[in-house]
Amino acid sequence: VTPPPLDRCLPRGARGRVYLVGAGPGDPELLTLRAHRLLVSAKVVAYDELVGKEILALVPENAERIAVGRRKGTNPSAPSIHPSVLERALAGIDVVRLKGGDPFVFGRGGEEAEQLAALRIPFEVVAGVSAALGAAAATGIPLTHRDAASSVTFATAQARHDASADDLAARVPAEGTLVLYMGLGNLAETAARLISLGRPPSTPVAIVSHATLPTERTLIGDLSSIGEAAAIANLATPALVIVGEVVAHRVVPAAEPAQPSTSPPAISARRTA
Ligand code: SAH
Repeated sequence: VTPPPLDRCLPRGARGRVYLVGAGPGDPELLTLRAHRLLVSAKVVAYDELVGKEILALVPENAERIAVGRRKGTNPSAPSIHPSVLERALAGIDVVRLKGGDPFVFGRGGEEAEQLAALRIPFEVVAGVSAALGAAAATGIPLTHRDAASSVTFATAQARHDASADDLAARVPAEGTLVLYMGLGNLAETAARLISLGRPPSTPVAIVSHATLPTERTLIGDLSSIGEAAAIANLATPALVIVGEVVAHRVVPAAEPAQPSTSPPAISARRTA
C-alpha cells in the first residue's frame, strides 16, 4: 500500500481513529450497544449500500455521510478503503466505517484493517450480527442441532475472479450446515454442484431475503428444486441460502402459521399485517 502524500505532512498524533463497525443484518434493534453509541455521536460516517435507512437515521443530522457502496462491476483491484475515509482520518477526524452484518464476514473488513495498519491509522473493529445469525434467529432455523448438524460453514457462492470456475468442493465440507452469502444469483448451479458433490437432492434449503427487515421473505425447498423455485419467487437481494437438515428443524413462532414442510416450496413473509 502506498501512503498518500498527506501521510507525510502530518505528525503521528494527528490521525483520527477509524471504527470498522458492523451494522448487523438490518433491524436496528440488532445493533450492538457500542455500534449504537458510535453512530449517535459520529462526525463522519462512511457506509455501505447494504446499510439501511433506519440505521443511518441514527447518525446526527450535521454529520458527514459518505456512501462508499461497491456495486457489481466495481474494479475488484480498487483499494478497499475509500480515499475520503483515509483523508478524514489523516486530517485527525474520527470516522465510523459502517458495514452490513459483521465487518469481518465477507465484508472486506480484513483488507481495510490491513490498509489502516499499513498507514499507521488507529482503528478498531466492532463486531456485528452477521446475516447468517440474523436470518437464522428471525426464521427459527437453528444453524446447528444435535439431531441434524454439528458444524456450520459460512461460504460465498461467488468465487474470486481469479479462482478456478468451480472450486466449491474445495471450499465447503460434504456435510453440516452450509450458509451461502451472495448465493442467489447462481443458486441453480450451486445446488446442482452440491448434489454432484454428494449432498442428497432432498436436502432441505431455505432462502432468506431481507432477513430481520419488515420486508423479510423465506422460501423453503430442497436442493433439487430450489433453483427453479427461487427464479419463480423472484426474491429480492440481499438474500442468503441455508442448506442442510437444520432447515427441517425450523421452529415457527406461534404467531405465524406454520407451512407444512412436506410441500415445498412455501413462501412466507416475516410479519403478517
Ligand atoms: N458482512 C456481511 C456480509 C456482506 S456480503 C455480514 O456479515 O452479514 C453481502 C451478503 O450478505 C449478501 O449477498 C447476502 O447474502 C448477505 N446479507 C446481508 N444482509 C442480509 C440480509 N438482511 N438478509 C439476507 N442476506 C443478507
